[in-house]
Amino acid sequence: MVDRYATFANSAAGKALVTRLGLPAPTPLRRYSPGDPLVTGPVLVDAAPGGRLGPAVRAILDEAGVPLRDPVAAAVEAGASATPGRLAALIFDATGVTSSERLRTLYDFFHAHARTLLPSGRVIVLGTAPEDCAAPREAVAQRALEGLVRTIGKEFGRGSTAQLVYAAPDAPLESTLRFLLSGRSAYVSGQVVRVGPAVGPAAASSVDWEHPLTGKVALVTGAARGIGAAIARVLARDGARVIALDVPAAGEPLAALANEIRGEALQLDVTAADAPARLAAYLRDRHGRVDVVVHNAGITRDRTLGRMSAAEWDSVLDVNLSSQERINDAILDLLPPGGRLIQVSSMNGIAGNRGQANYATSKAGVIGLVQVLAPALAARGVTVNAVAPGFIETPMTARMPVALREVSRRLNSLSQGGLPVDVAETIAWFASPGSSGVTGNVVRVCGQSLIGA
Ligand code: NAD
Repeated sequence: MVDRYATFANSAAGKALVTRLGLPAPTPLRRYSPGDPLVTGPVLVDAAPGGRLGPAVRAILDEAGVPLRDPVAAAVEAGASATPGRLAALIFDATGVTSSERLRTLYDFFHAHARTLLPSGRVIVLGTAPEDCAAPREAVAQRALEGLVRTIGKEFGRGSTAQLVYAAPDAPLESTLRFLLSGRSAYVSGQVVRVGPAVGPAAASSVDWEHPLTGKVALVTGAARGIGAAIARVLARDGARVIALDVPAAGEPLAALANEIRGEALQLDVTAADAPARLAAYLRDRHGRVDVVVHNAGITRDRTLGRMSAAEWDSVLDVNLSSQERINDAILDLLPPGGRLIQVSSMNGIAGNRGQANYATSKAGVIGLVQVLAPALAARGVTVNAVAPGFIETPMTARMPVALREVSRRLNSLSQGGLPVDVAETIAWFASPGSSGVTGNVVRVCGQSLIGA
């Protein structure tokens, strides 16, 4: 679906009018293509005194070939020059912030560099999860980082994003830094991500970052179209053998997709009574295991609660939540250590939505599933995470009434809708062998939607 307003706003005449009237200005986002460099310019890494992550982060970026700007030179430049050198990303290690008074170091840093970011720039603040802080004053200061980062996401503009990463002392950070810096996270902003110690086998020291899923078997439900098809394509691009599952009625597009990505098409209704057993048998017989499971199949049956039929309630709860629980019961044993379970929730599962009591309930339940399963699966070396998409340009959102669609597109920090590939890239980050410390997270892919939490 073409975003005509964004096309107009980026034309010569449109740019002038949009600026004069103070209208939303959706910057074309930098999205990933194979072979792209991680960033489009130098990256500045600085730290509050006593920070524990700065050297490790610098080493990771150096190894990845990212050009690093010297913090002292950058500070002098920012103070002296009206046009300081442009930066692709600002990374600040705030783990040394042990009291609210020390938050001032973040003001000093971001105040100096706020106007130096290139379009589609990246801001990453690293901290310690408040629940992991030894002292209450440190926990308060670390919690305060959320407000700053979310505000930066709303202020910096021009397609830039801002994230807070709470990192445990021995957290493997590389896959998360790579994702957040690259064009893969184009539509992810204002998020708080927790990276803990590695769950399961640590990734090999030499992850092939272009094809991290080589040799992995991935199942994607609801893969015939929309977001599911994008997930299947991205996981295949990253090297996985993809089993694309959808209902028999979607057999034709499903087969075409499976051909395109050299994967397998599996026609199955996830709500069928025998679906868990059939799926488990398929995976066991063909592959002996499944490394990545993406529960993406989902439906809507919108109506306000007073008018909603029991059938509308039941079908949405069954496809979006209960069937996933039944399938998990049957196939989780087939996930080896290093396995990845990934759920597709929704912004509406966080914020609720008028006319979607069934959908919001099911998608909030999906978040519950992540929270409940994370500790149990960690013991077996398996991670579980969810994405919560906001407004994504799909046939589903193309059918929305025009006024509602326009409002939904603009009401986020990036002033535009996301693409299915943005959800898929976030799922590929969860799926990566390098993401062994990423579990129990719900990450919104919503351009930092202004609606809801
Ligand atoms: P879509 O309707 O385009 O695709 C959903 C796919 O799931 C279809 O191919 C459909 O055949 C399949 N499916 C439905 N019921 C099934 C069943 N019983 N068994 C097997 N397959 C089944 O939807 P989409 O927009 O691509 O959404 C994908 C997921 O993302 C859903 O879980 C949806 O709730 C979620 N989501 C979408 C958006 C958005 O803006 N599009 C926003 C938030 C969340």
